[in-house]
Amino acid sequence: KVKAAKTYIDNVYNTVKERNANEPEFLQAVQEIFDSLLPVFVKHPHYMENGILERVVEPERLITFRVPWVDDQGKVRVNRGFRVQYNSALGPYKGGLRFHPSVNASIIKFLGFEQIFKNALTGQAIGGGKGGADFDPKGKSDAEIMRFTQSFMTELSKYIGSDVDVPAGDIGVGAREIGYMFGQYRRMRGHFDAGVLTGKGVGYGGSLGRTEATGYGLVYFVEEMLKDKGMSFENKTVVVSGSGNVSLYAIEKAQQFGAKVVACSDSTGYIYDPEGICIETLKHLKEVERCRICEYINERPNAQYFEGSENIWTIPCDIALPCATQNELDKNAAETLVKNGVKAVGEGANMPCTHDAAETFLSNDILYAPGKASNAGGVAVSALEMAQNSSRMPWSFEKVDKELRKIMTNIYQDSIKAADEYGMSGNLVAGANIAGFVKVADAMLFQGVI
Ligand code: GLU
Repeated sequence: KVKAAKTYIDNVYNTVKERNANEPEFLQAVQEIFDSLLPVFVKHPHYMENGILERVVEPERLITFRVPWVDDQGKVRVNRGFRVQYNSALGPYKGGLRFHPSVNASIIKFLGFEQIFKNALTGQAIGGGKGGADFDPKGKSDAEIMRFTQSFMTELSKYIGSDVDVPAGDIGVGAREIGYMFGQYRRMRGHFDAGVLTGKGVGYGGSLGRTEATGYGLVYFVEEMLKDKGMSFENKTVVVSGSGNVSLYAIEKAQQFGAKVVACSDSTGYIYDPEGICIETLKHLKEVERCRICEYINERPNAQYFEGSENIWTIPCDIALPCATQNELDKNAAETLVKNGVKAVGEGANMPCTHDAAETFLSNDILYAPGKASNAGGVAVSALEMAQNSSRMPWSFEKVDKELRKIMTNIYQDSIKAADEYGMSGNLVAGANIAGFVKVADAMLFQGVI
């Protein structure tokens, strides 16, 4: 039985590799999930007979499109837009849009594939999708951002809808971009379909607590994981990479839980504030002024700025929260963290630890929360936003936050339970992958070969 399951997984993986050569991020995400699935196929051989794995790994649809726009100098520019509608067995496709120069099919597919299982873990009725463009928002004027996002939406609007596919933000896409896209969609369709995008402003259908959700959810999840070992955030030293939406609210919640957050970063460097980061200063710089993180030291004389964001992991800490981007924390960094006594690692970004780095944490018995479980709070509150839009009934911040905490606790418990049940006790990576996968596989099974 074990041999048959192993052969099956290997064969599917080899086909995926052949079909998607030159897509390293996608193959990495696929391998990371496949690595956890042996006990699943041993226990449920009928998944094999129904070709669940070869079906789930192939996107239902991958849309690529031209995004033409005019810059402030009057020059015509063209970017490439993407939307992967990966799996809709559990509900409408759901997942963010990323605007970053590195965006390509491999990145969008890795994010979309992970999103399927993350969304399943939330327990809500949402399928998996992802999209974006290789557009670099850095240095663009507000007018350029608006023209670009309007052009992007003009094409994307053909494929989305509140019961079809519901995009949201990701790197480079926040409330401003969602606002411009929502306006363009509404204008083109001529009706107010509030649930077509999430992460909207609260004044026109957005949910209170959506901005905070990913960062807060991450800290709720890690707190749960620490609690199991008799620990908590109280009095711990924390390093958080990144300084975008996820990082800001992870820092804020970790501080509320009594931790001291001493560092965070952007793509060029990191700041170290031995007294603990001043979240008000940081928020003002990032959310209002939209400037580089090095400006922080002008406001806080005891803080220091260092070039090279990857070196942030040399700072000794009890808890590391990588919240910047994929593969930002490699084996070297993981070994340094372990040597410096790190107790727990919680992923706020999608796949921020390389495969080797994750192995390093697991083999050294460091508590390690994989992103598809620990950063699911963002998309979970997106689903709550959809619920509020359908019922035309906004919720209070307290209600959203309480629900978020409950969802994160459930994801932790479901992952631990799945790990136990499938002989992988204590391994949250395996537990999260298995719990998410089984939900999707069962839904696909009941719906026939589609
Ligand atoms: N981009 C976020 C993620 O990686 C949120 C997606 C959403 O809210 O749909 O899960």
